[in-house]
Amino acid sequence: MKPVIILILVFFAVRLLRKNLLKKAASMSASEQKSGDSRIPNKGAGNRGEEMVLDPVCGSYVPESSALSAKRDGETAHFCSTECREKFLKG
Ligand SMILES: [Zn+2]
Repeated sequence: MKPVIILILVFFAVRLLRKNLLKKAASMSASEQKSGDSRIPNKGAGNRGEEMVLDPVCGSYVPESSALSAKRDGETAHFCSTECREKFLKG
């Protein structure tokens, strides 16, 4: 192989590499933007402090903030709905 041909090959190889690097950089910045958006769905963080309470009537778990409560025999019970609460108080 002549040195000139090698030089030309190297030249084109470098050009190809630069193109690939530019593509990578572009795709990297694009994925950075995507990961920036993915910060928003952190639903778990908001509910982390919230306790789930058991409805003894139907056996379902309800977030304490949205659960109904009633006292019977000095114990507080939580319910998913007024129906369950009524059943508990009657039964
Ligand atoms: Zn219930």
